[in-house]
Amino acid sequence: MQAPSVGGVMLPRGNGQTVRLSRGASLTDFAEKINANPASLVAVMLNLGEMVTATQSVSDETLQLLADEMNYNVEIVSPEEEDRELLESFDIEFGEDEGGEEMLSARPPVVTVMGHVDHGKTRLLDAIRKTNVVAGEAGGITQHIGAYQVSTEVNDEERRITFIDTPGHEAFTAMRARGAKSTDIAILVVAANDGVMPQTIEALNHAKAADVPIVVAVNKIDVEGADPTKVRGQLTEYGLVAEEYGGDTMFVDISAKQGLHIDSLLEAVVLTADASLDLRANSEQDAQGIAIEAHLDRGRGAVATVLVQRGTLRVGDTMVVGDAYGRVRAMLDDNGNNVVEAGPATPVLVLGLTNVPGAGDNFLVVDEDRTARQIAEKRAARERNAAFAKRTRRVSLEDLDKVLKAGQVQQLNLIIKGDASGSVEALESSLLQLDVGEEVDLRVLHRGVGAVTETDIDLATGSDAIVIGFNVRADGRATQMAEREGVDVRYYSVIYQVIEEIEAALKGMLKPEYEEVELGTAEIREIFRSSKLGNIAGVLIRSGEVRRNTKARLIRDGKVIAENLNIEGLRRFKDDVTEIREGFEGGINLGSYNDIKIDDVIATYEMREKPRG
Ligand code: GDP
Repeated sequence: MQAPSVGGVMLPRGNGQTVRLSRGASLTDFAEKINANPASLVAVMLNLGEMVTATQSVSDETLQLLADEMNYNVEIVSPEEEDRELLESFDIEFGEDEGGEEMLSARPPVVTVMGHVDHGKTRLLDAIRKTNVVAGEAGGITQHIGAYQVSTEVNDEERRITFIDTPGHEAFTAMRARGAKSTDIAILVVAANDGVMPQTIEALNHAKAADVPIVVAVNKIDVEGADPTKVRGQLTEYGLVAEEYGGDTMFVDISAKQGLHIDSLLEAVVLTADASLDLRANSEQDAQGIAIEAHLDRGRGAVATVLVQRGTLRVGDTMVVGDAYGRVRAMLDDNGNNVVEAGPATPVLVLGLTNVPGAGDNFLVVDEDRTARQIAEKRAARERNAAFAKRTRRVSLEDLDKVLKAGQVQQLNLIIKGDASGSVEALESSLLQLDVGEEVDLRVLHRGVGAVTETDIDLATGSDAIVIGFNVRADGRATQMAEREGVDVRYYSVIYQVIEEIEAALKGMLKPEYEEVELGTAEIREIFRSSKLGNIAGVLIRSGEVRRNTKARLIRDGKVIAENLNIEGLRRFKDDVTEIREGFEGGINLGSYNDIKIDDVIATYEMREKPRG
């Protein structure tokens, strides 16, 4: 269909030329590329039945539609491609070691543990860590920073191995989906008493797709009925043939629980790396790598665990991680010790960033603070545009009519907030994998780390989204705003529960029975220590009322620190009372729970039956 003019405005027409546009571009960006008046593009869209303003970011489909209509060929530049171009404009190359062969030296392999739920991934990661802490570096407080390094002896030589400490393939896939390759070798854990299960296959396929060699850990051999031979047979069908059967995959029988053969497993990892990979890196250049975990820490600000992939990261370096940047103020290793430098394949916790980056974001060290800031700002702007583009709903006049007539919603919009970038991304990728049929479209409009804020509610209001708080709560005003605007904010602490509920809701099968009703919130102003009762919180009631014997949770910096607490004691001055209302002060005793701090918030709630609707 050709549209020569609308209301007297001449419409631009191309000859099939290609126009490159970044994801989330606006009609004005498009117009600029083809030397046209933005207003004329608005007119074309109107003609197609869509109201779009000239400066708003639009979806890929809208750009495509518009281009087709005007006989242009549009090429939407992926974020990865765009990022490469951005770095190139600063003369930075990401992902390649500088210099020639002679600059490269051996580095440890980076390993991810994958497998079916309950087959022992977590237990194995703990067992490895406990038995093989790098000699001489123990002593600090063991910290879970998202990765750790161990050492093992192979052929009389000390060899190191780096483990990514978040088991499961969700994190692995989320990172890979973003173009970040974090893993050299995958350990596939299969419980010998259970055999190959659906997620075993899934994990195996992910590793294969990423071209990552696999070492199989046949776990739980201590359990009665364990059949390690059967596991070998089963996996043969999926192309993993054990060495003893003439294949090239190493299988090691272990018990994570009893700590059996953990060393053999580590040896298998080293041998597999030596046989099939050439793991070398330039340790002398400016550091580059990826972020594997990040969160906001009350005392320390934004902290991120990064895995150095090449170069050496040093305290004082200026770095960019995703859209965060800063000078490295301090670095801690996985034993909680301060370190001043970290070379290839070393994970370190970095302090000093401006904000919290995402898991899988790449990081690089640059010479000047100004460059770091500019790269970070450009990336942030791009993220905003892309988020906005996703958010813009394309409702054509036709469609709108249909939707209204049928009285049905066709798209479930979600906003995900969580306590750490890893969990948020794992949640997002699991949700996006839900098979929801053709009638409904599931979209994640926004995701982030931290409490649910007014901005989130704002976005939810504007796009009819549901807000998911994963191990975080809404801050005070956001709760009120959500209530006022009728935004559904749901809190969870277990990933599969979110998945189950969303799936049920999408299938129209959600049977709400009980809902949580917030009763009141109290801010801790002082802490009194009583030898008989433990810590008593001196509080000011911020909203609602706090009643004795109701359930409570403790919130610190918007994050839930403890669940399932009970208001065991409630006092005003010297009197025991049953309730204290908003604006009044009092004392709260949470029974045996004592880990409270000034500024923490105690939120009380009760479960009420929810009317079915
Ligand atoms: P994940 O879901 O794969 O991370 O599995 P977990 O590491 O949480 O382990 C699931 C359950 O299996 C836990 O109760 C573990 O204690 C248990 N388990 C893990 N490894 C072994 C093992 O080698 N032997 C036995 N008997 N139990 C194990």
